[in-house]
Amino acid sequence: MIRRDFIKFSLFTVAFLSPVYITAKMKQDEYIRATVLICGGGIAGLSTAKYLKELNPDLNVVLIEKNPLFISCTFSNAFLGGLEDISFESLCFDYNSSINAYKYKFLNETIVDIKRDEKIVITNKSTIKYEYLVMAVGIDYDYKELYKTDTIKAKQSLLLAPPGFKAGSETLALKRMIKGMTEGNFVISIPSSDYKCLSAPYERACMIAHYFKSNNINAKVIIIDERSKPASNAQRFLQAFNEYYYDIIEYRNMTILKDVDFDKNIMYLKKYDKQSRMYLTTELRFSEASIIPRNIANKLIRKARLKTSTSGWAKVQDGTFRSITDDDVYVIGDTQGNTSYPKTAQMANSIAKIISLDLIARLNDEKFDYTTTMPENISYSIINDEKAISLVHTFSYTNELEVKSAVSQITYNEFISAKMWFDTLNNDIFALN
Ligand SMILES: Cc1cc2nc3c(=O)[nH]c(=O)nc-3n(C[C@H](O)[C@H](O)[C@H](O)COP(=O)(O)OP(=O)(O)OC[C@H]3O[C@@H](n4cnc5c(N)ncnc54)[C@H](O)[C@@H]3O)c2cc1C
Repeated sequence: MIRRDFIKFSLFTVAFLSPVYITAKMKQDEYIRATVLICGGGIAGLSTAKYLKELNPDLNVVLIEKNPLFISCTFSNAFLGGLEDISFESLCFDYNSSINAYKYKFLNETIVDIKRDEKIVITNKSTIKYEYLVMAVGIDYDYKELYKTDTIKAKQSLLLAPPGFKAGSETLALKRMIKGMTEGNFVISIPSSDYKCLSAPYERACMIAHYFKSNNINAKVIIIDERSKPASNAQRFLQAFNEYYYDIIEYRNMTILKDVDFDKNIMYLKKYDKQSRMYLTTELRFSEASIIPRNIANKLIRKARLKTSTSGWAKVQDGTFRSITDDDVYVIGDTQGNTSYPKTAQMANSIAKIISLDLIARLNDEKFDYTTTMPENISYSIINDEKAISLVHTFSYTNELEVKSAVSQITYNEFISAKMWFDTLNNDIFALN
């Protein structure tokens, strides 16, 4: 090219490459690219990363998680109960072994926005462009039902009566509170709507009662429940309260928590009175409490403008785990909710397997049939230091989802199986074998 032509070409190029074009081009180069982008490194997200990479080691999988380590909700009640071998450390897992073994890209960052129209996720540090998005971001607490617009009371409640449904600081706070008690009432309040791991509050009651019993602490555990019976394993839990903790656990059914005075340590309750067929107001003095507010899908679901049900859970297409709003977005684990699938770690893991198969099929231009690949669930509830219950769910889909469930007796075998299940799941996800 002679010099005059080169100058002409350069001028043309500079004119063509306007600032807007240059910024857009630079932005594109700055994107991290992911064929599958997984938001959230809980059981659901970690399991998906693992299964995808096992199915196709060359697949470009990126996982974003805000926490530097994983702390397990599962078995956190056993830690509160002071069971042998269940230390706080035994609930904690580093991400390193999983990343090294399964070789996905891990971003220890916080997601701040999701723009589905551009297929990008923005974190506090980077922008990631995806082909397929997996939302595995868990739950949020919604205190509005309890305290309306009183956000100060909501903050007080979280600090002074932690729900312990996000393992970590809340778990340690509960442990400190339980250990500090010498007498009085430990109150557990349960939301009336669907929440993560239905059996968890009743298991917690057993574990705190076990701690009081084995340490000769003259304190009680009072459960406040709007339902007529426990939300899960009702018969077995009522049996456990009666057989093992007759003078320690008091189950107050058809009772609504209306308000709390944290300065006076008094709860205001409404209890259904069968005789007058009316709700009567009563007061309950407490020493410590774990107030579990309504659970809803993580706010990122709403930020991404993915449809939610009236109860606040992300909606999926019937019989699948694809969002009802966007076919390229999967919603898994605790955050999904217009189905009869329980919100458990085992379900999160099982669903992760299924969507990994769906994604690999899609990437290979093949069809995937959800109705022939159903998830499975088993969840254990620890009753004391040698007994537990298991609940098994089996699912089938013909015209609609059908669920069958079976509850075990309270046995030592279930207790041993619970511990084995916990180790097996974690060893698998965190590649600890
Ligand atoms: C007390 C208790 C006991 C339980 N016991 C059992 C049991 O015995 N068996 C069982 O099967 N299940 C049990 N469960 C239920 C089980 O813990 C959950 O169902 C399971 O952990 C759900 O996993 P998940 O990945 O969907 O959600 P999560 O584990 O909540 O993971 C969501 C992840 O997303 C991340 N995240 C959220 N927002 C952002 C953001 N903005 N940026 C980046 N990352 C973000 C979070 O940090 C988190 O790591 C129990 C639950 C509780 C509370």
